[in-house]
Amino acid sequence: MEEEKKQHRLLLMASPLEGHMTPLLNLAHILFSKGFSVTILHTLFNSPDPNSYPHFSFHTIPDGLSEADTLDAVHLTDLINIRCAHPLKECLPSLLSNSPQPVPCFISDAALHFTQPICDELKLPRLVLRTGGASSFLLFASFPLLREKGYLPVQESRLEEPVVDFPPLKVKDLPKFQSQDPEAFYKLVCRFVEECKASSGVIWNTFEELESAALTKLRQDFSFPLYPIGPFHKSLLTGSASSASLLTPDRSCMSWLDKQEHNSVVYVSFGSIAAISEAEFLEIAWGLANSLQPFLWVIRPGSIRDSEGLEPLPSGFLENLGGRGYIVKWAPQEQVLSHPAVGAFWTHNGWNSTLESICEGVPMICMPCFADQKVNAKYASSVWNVGVQLQNKLERGEVEKTIKKVMVGDGANEIRDNALNLKEKASACLKEGGSSYCFLDSLVSDILSLAS
Ligand code: UDP
Repeated sequence: MEEEKKQHRLLLMASPLEGHMTPLLNLAHILFSKGFSVTILHTLFNSPDPNSYPHFSFHTIPDGLSEADTLDAVHLTDLINIRCAHPLKECLPSLLSNSPQPVPCFISDAALHFTQPICDELKLPRLVLRTGGASSFLLFASFPLLREKGYLPVQESRLEEPVVDFPPLKVKDLPKFQSQDPEAFYKLVCRFVEECKASSGVIWNTFEELESAALTKLRQDFSFPLYPIGPFHKSLLTGSASSASLLTPDRSCMSWLDKQEHNSVVYVSFGSIAAISEAEFLEIAWGLANSLQPFLWVIRPGSIRDSEGLEPLPSGFLENLGGRGYIVKWAPQEQVLSHPAVGAFWTHNGWNSTLESICEGVPMICMPCFADQKVNAKYASSVWNVGVQLQNKLERGEVEKTIKKVMVGDGANEIRDNALNLKEKASACLKEGGSSYCFLDSLVSDILSLAS
């Protein structure tokens, strides 16, 4: 079996968005550790640094993108689907024929739906990597139905209405994207779901025990095989987990964390895309200050609209806190979350951040911004009960109240216990005989059977 695997090469194509690239590279590491050779195909925009991945081969697909094309994630993804089609069609036959080993399949990010018809033409099986959760995918797959029933597009007057068939979601929890063209998000989602159905299977960065209801429903509704083999970053025992970070993490925050009390720090980060207004920024700052908890806050360049850096902060803001607050442009997030001083993660609930928090047993303060984040936040706060959603307006009093609720309130111990229980499950599923361990074995043997 081991020898047979070494004779195969996998081609994996990544979306350039950070929250997509990191899990794809982690999946590549996992499959490499199972004996496959790996070639990563990627756009010119946000291309990974091959020097960081000496075991992989890389191939650039020209994308013709300009700086302006990259500002809106939906528009960017649409353009990649259009502009990379011809270059991929041109290079794929020679990548296949020049490969020293046979290529049993092509693996692509779900958002890159253009790859399915190209693989079909070449009779090359395509597996999909879905970097989000299974529960949000179930909603994506129901978009036409949700539209038919009048839930989509989301109407302000119906926000508190429950979405029938999707408890505990309310209309306000449905995925939404503030795109230049609101219809574009709907169309992109429908298209990528369709091409998932045409694929040979979907690989998920989740685990059975976390999303069993959604995975069961997906198995009933769809015929493609499902491989929930996550959490990817924890399945790499060798410490080879990737972070395709475009920004350099500021590790100075780790020694600041060392000086803080156990479970006392609120870690605040809204991922690689979300942006807030200057007014929201100030409410966050004062809410953190008034909570009296120490905080580590990631303020990414460009994450405050119409502002370059920290200038909206009142002068002397940090100094007046006497070392209780620490701000970085980018943090080594996985390390931060595993630090014993961190007591809560104020997150936008991107899927990677949600999963990373779960894996470290850190309770969440949920402030979803767009796309699947609202679904993830609802699951974290109302299904897994490992967090609290910031309700209503982003306002300093509300922030202070929510931080206290998660850190020291009556229900804080229960949330922490739930988070620790889920952490145990996230770890157990990767051990021999665990659900993700077994699904990975099936994935490997299914890939090999595609070759024969
Ligand atoms: N991240 C990081 N340092 C930071 C903030 C985020 O390394 O200061 C990483 C985080 O660990 C996660 C990714 O960036 O893997 C963000 O992905 P997610 O799906 O949570 O959100 P997105 O950026 O796609 O909105």
